[in-house]
Amino acid sequence: MIKTDILIIGAGPTGLFAVFEAGLLKLKCHLIDALPQAGGQCSEIYPKKPIYDIPGFPEVLAGDLVDNLMEQIKSFQPGFTLGERAETIKKLDDGTFIVTTNKGTEHHAPVVAIAGGLGSFEPRKPLLDNLKKFEDNGIAYMIKDPEVYRDKKVVIAGGGDSALDWSIFLADVASQVTLVHRRNEFRGALDSVEKVQELKNQGKLNLITPAEIIALNGDDTLESVLIRKISDAKEEQVLEVDNFIPLFGLSPKLGPIGDWGLEIEKNAIKVDTFDYQTNIPGIYAIGDVNTYPGKLKLILCGFHEATLMCQSAFQKIHPDKKYVMKYTTVGGVNGFDGTKKEAPKAVVKKIE
Ligand SMILES: Cc1cc2nc3c(=O)[nH]c(=O)nc-3n(C[C@H](O)[C@H](O)[C@H](O)COP(=O)(O)OP(=O)(O)OC[C@H]3O[C@@H](n4cnc5c(N)ncnc54)[C@H](O)[C@@H]3O)c2cc1C
Repeated sequence: MIKTDILIIGAGPTGLFAVFEAGLLKLKCHLIDALPQAGGQCSEIYPKKPIYDIPGFPEVLAGDLVDNLMEQIKSFQPGFTLGERAETIKKLDDGTFIVTTNKGTEHHAPVVAIAGGLGSFEPRKPLLDNLKKFEDNGIAYMIKDPEVYRDKKVVIAGGGDSALDWSIFLADVASQVTLVHRRNEFRGALDSVEKVQELKNQGKLNLITPAEIIALNGDDTLESVLIRKISDAKEEQVLEVDNFIPLFGLSPKLGPIGDWGLEIEKNAIKVDTFDYQTNIPGIYAIGDVNTYPGKLKLILCGFHEATLMCQSAFQKIHPDKKYVMKYTTVGGVNGFDGTKKEAPKAVVKKIE
């Protein structure tokens, strides 16, 4: 049985940063993730996509952000159970929890923090004949390495941030990028919509709307797609392509966590914004997995939620200890990673 102070379900950016905040309070963490690697959506869906809204980083690749988070928590030596899905939870008489994975690994902790993001990753797929035949043979639902598309002819379908962001990014990588969307309006950020329009005007991107892909052709690998305009004329055109990337989003599936007796609203766990605790005392939900009025599914919001969660978890685990908030400069001097460092004089703020 693995024992820890805070058991974190989900090793995405939120779960990883929670380890740091818990470490500052001298709380040990163990993370469970169904994926074989840490990083959540950043590693699994868009490791090479730049992110522009992490404070202090004008631009950072999602994969690099994960590497940095792993570096930041290294000294706190978190435990990892990777490639296993948290399946069941049992509350013991003393208020602590046992969480068991689909492979039978048991974890025991006084506090459980669910940082499960979107849950298990299930891409929404277009309804097309012979789709399966071309999966991994020209069709992909996520872009893990954009270099795969260097000098290739790529068609992307979709109308959200993913489709827009990747169309913009691949315009500099692929030999030809075509974005096909069922509507004339996009759901993504206005900035990205404007950028796509700009690239179209510069002849660096083909934009076909309102339209849809209705057939896939090729022998062993994908050779062309048939695009039909959604209009009275229903014009059709065959486009020669190497790759087709439908980016219709991921269908949100909470998975087994949905059966744990937690209050759920629209596939997300309801929390109290005081400390991101759920309706079950001792179980918190942070990051994309939770919901509350005004919720934004952004990495920086997950970081904030993880920070407040840890403060509350500290009080729960050590009800008799007085909590003193310290800025991290103190950690540098005292060496929370075990090394002596020159650091500015610490500022200590007491919270009564
Ligand atoms: C294409 C794209 C671009 C984006 N761009 C930005 C951006 O520019 N800026 C920004 O702030 N945000 C962006 N986001 C959103 C951002 O990625 C999410 O807000 C962030 O990943 C949420 O982090 P998280 O740790 O809460 O969840 P996730 O990253 O989803 O990680 C959750 C982890 O929990 C695991 N898990 C779930 N259920 C279980 C279970 N039962 N057992 C074990 N493990 C489980 C999953 O496997 C996953 O690894 C983007 C998202 C996408 C898809």
